[in-house]
Amino acid sequence: MSDDPNGRVVRTTCAYCGVGCGVLAERFGDVVSTTGDPDHPANHGRLCAKGIQLGSTLRQDSRLLHPLVDGVEASWDKALARVAHSFRKTIAEHGPDSVAFYVSGQLLTEDYYVANKLMKGAIGSGNIDTNSRLCMATAVAGYKRAFGSDTVPCGYADVEQADLVVLVGSNLAWCHPVLHQRLDASRASGRGPVVVCLDPRPTATSADADLHLSLKPGTDAVLFNGLLNWLNEHDAVHRDYVSKHTTGFAQTLAAAQQMGDPAAVAQVCGLRVADVEALYQLFSKSDRVVTLYSQGVNQSSVGTDKVNAIINVHLATAQLGRPGCGPFSITGQPNAMGGREVGGLASQLAAHMGFEAESVDRVRRFWGFDRIAEKPGYTAVELFDRVAKGDVKALWIMGTNPAVSMPNSGHVREALRQCPLVVLSDCVASTDTAAFAHIQLPAAGWGEKDGTVTNSERMISRQRRFLPTAGACRPDWWIITEVARAMGYAEHFDYTCTADIFREHAALSTFENNGSRDFDLGGLANLSNDAYESLEPLYWPVPDAPRDSAPAAKPHDMFAAGRFFTPDRRARLVPVTRSGIYRDADESFPVLLNSGRLRDQWHTMTRTAEAPKLNQHTPEPMVYLSPLDGRRHGLSDGDIANVRSRCGQARLRVCLSPGMSPGQAFVPMHWSDQFASSALSGSLFSGPVDPLSAQPELKSEPVRVERFEVVRHALVLRRQAQPLAPLVTEADYFARSRFADCEVIFLAFGADRSCWETWAGGHLPDGLQTLSAAQSNRGLLLAALSENVVEGVVLLSKAPVHRQVHRLAGYFAFEPLTVAQRQQLLGGLPSTEVSADGEGEVICACFGTTSDAIDVGIESAGLRSTEALGDALGAGSNCGSCLPELRQRISSKD
Ligand code: SF4
Repeated sequence: MSDDPNGRVVRTTCAYCGVGCGVLAERFGDVVSTTGDPDHPANHGRLCAKGIQLGSTLRQDSRLLHPLVDGVEASWDKALARVAHSFRKTIAEHGPDSVAFYVSGQLLTEDYYVANKLMKGAIGSGNIDTNSRLCMATAVAGYKRAFGSDTVPCGYADVEQADLVVLVGSNLAWCHPVLHQRLDASRASGRGPVVVCLDPRPTATSADADLHLSLKPGTDAVLFNGLLNWLNEHDAVHRDYVSKHTTGFAQTLAAAQQMGDPAAVAQVCGLRVADVEALYQLFSKSDRVVTLYSQGVNQSSVGTDKVNAIINVHLATAQLGRPGCGPFSITGQPNAMGGREVGGLASQLAAHMGFEAESVDRVRRFWGFDRIAEKPGYTAVELFDRVAKGDVKALWIMGTNPAVSMPNSGHVREALRQCPLVVLSDCVASTDTAAFAHIQLPAAGWGEKDGTVTNSERMISRQRRFLPTAGACRPDWWIITEVARAMGYAEHFDYTCTADIFREHAALSTFENNGSRDFDLGGLANLSNDAYESLEPLYWPVPDAPRDSAPAAKPHDMFAAGRFFTPDRRARLVPVTRSGIYRDADESFPVLLNSGRLRDQWHTMTRTAEAPKLNQHTPEPMVYLSPLDGRRHGLSDGDIANVRSRCGQARLRVCLSPGMSPGQAFVPMHWSDQFASSALSGSLFSGPVDPLSAQPELKSEPVRVERFEVVRHALVLRRQAQPLAPLVTEADYFARSRFADCEVIFLAFGADRSCWETWAGGHLPDGLQTLSAAQSNRGLLLAALSENVVEGVVLLSKAPVHRQVHRLAGYFAFEPLTVAQRQQLLGGLPSTEVSADGEGEVICACFGTTSDAIDVGIESAGLRSTEALGDALGAGSNCGSCLPELRQRISSKD
């Protein structure tokens, strides 16, 4: 396989989650196909649906292709000069802390490094924070409290080798699918671990687990404190390890003992005593335990205490520093770890050094500035508060969409509206944040960028360029470097390529290190350009140049000797007394809202919404509720509901999900104003932060859910995407989605009109043959055909019609329609006023297999294994992302 960037196949890495899969990208003219890199240690050839569909996200029509200054196309010279001049002027008039960068875990390490050096070094302010603050700042704070360093102490192979894997607040099957597949494969081999899932919500991950503990939101620390107490009482604490390698055990145990016995823990957590005891027994009997946690732990106002409650148990039982065990924070973004390494968090200085005087002096000398930042900057939530207050007057946002992703998004938007200067570098032209930008800088996208990323297990991999850069786009490192030069810092930013930056990054990590800091890339500080180009994936630290003959380091090696990065080299157990949620549900807001990711979308959908296959699984934004809550609040499946919290509201389709616990709701985090009328999950969360990590709560917010009275539901499908206005401006609800052969728009109307048929006809392409079918109690369907090829369909009904979307979209693939297909198309009115039939949701994105087809296969054709379903329907036989859902459907028919 060629690594030649000028060849057709290039080894690179996926643009999405923190698993960091290796990708083989292959170009056929304008078409790019992606397959898993069999030689990449993170994925061994696997990719999930998002990774496989990377090629279909590379459309040019949504790209920002030229700099825009005040909305007008401008040259790079003009745009860069304006950014540099505005930042210089603001700093001169108001000081370094009047400017800020808000960056992203989507940046490559080299981009991140120069952004951090410009802000903390050249400008001398700590005001650079990253959207990773919303993702893993809590994990960082927890590791640092325990280990004295931000060190992930285990890796993916440890997950496979464990006897027990405890998943806490992690829907691994959807959010990190390839790692879930590795776990599955390990279990299928017969030697893999027992899996326990702790999550208030039933998920594809919990359905696959051996034991699901649906604990009350916010009670994770109680459960782990109870475990420490129980381990102590059952003589399962590793006394020798505790006494030789840790401090704080007695105080920590005393705090844990306050939680009482399993019965008391079960009561607080809302669990059965037997389930609590089952977890405790499993933990104590397992020689190797990995506790893997994600946003359910991190996105909490008591998140750092949850993390330390987990780490406490691992330290007390010596469950780290050897194969198959460790407390494992898995990150959301592809390069959140790279951001941690360079200092992209406002609370870090650089290269895993903080703001102690010694570190500030060391980094200042290394960078060669007279003075650099001496204190932490504003963290994300505080940063936008400071923008709103006018303290920050110039903000440069890079590769992220805070108008959507931040909590209290109404407040964040108001802050952006008032900010005298908002600069946005992004590869996409239209985002909700772009609406507030005075200057937009076109950044190179995935496939056009070149550099390194670090995945959740500390593995550094190359992300390689294999496409020409679109339009006038430039890599982020180049944009930042040019602004730095224009601001007068040319001698400090004299890079000619990303290898130059990487070498400096590595050199800083090893500068006056001598084993005192965990992060050390000294062995890579003198890489030649060729060696950088061909760099194979490797774990850090790399203090010495890699040698072929040396055994490859493993993530769990870091603490194998039981020496940590605290002053006394001992790990710290931390007494944990805080738990719970910041605000309970009450009479006015009786439902606790949770938020998170869907299987096939990524962040604010700027890329994944370009891939038709990824849109099929969940094409519109939903609020998921228990059927009991549906009855309590007068809601039926498919209704439209207003979801209101104390800080905002959204309007979403209702999905009644039998597994949801009463009193809880879930909304996906992905939809922005680009794709729906009012579906911002961030608008609902008020965003109180964890006091130690400054990471905002995004898992628990009291809301009320109210039915929105709909007089007409509609579906509009059209082959050619057209401007959404005026279609959606007339509606009280809309969501749009791109399918393979058509654009789909879901609509709902709260007010009646005199002639719906006229309205429907007005939204079909002009001048074509129109077919119609209408029944007074079932609705109206109009289809526009050109030489028997469907160009547009409008379906209207008093009942919800969203479940018809896959069936109707399918007619766009027939060119031309047969007579039978024309009849079927027109026969497709909803069957009753209250219950719309259809073909269900698409479960398998690769083959477009619907839930109805799968259910028929299981029930009527006796396809009672995933292999049988794959053979007969294709479902699950390609990327495997849907296998947990297939298993769920099979077991539900038992
Ligand atoms: Fe990309 Fe999927 Fe791998 Fe994550 S699991 S890195 S999204 S292919």
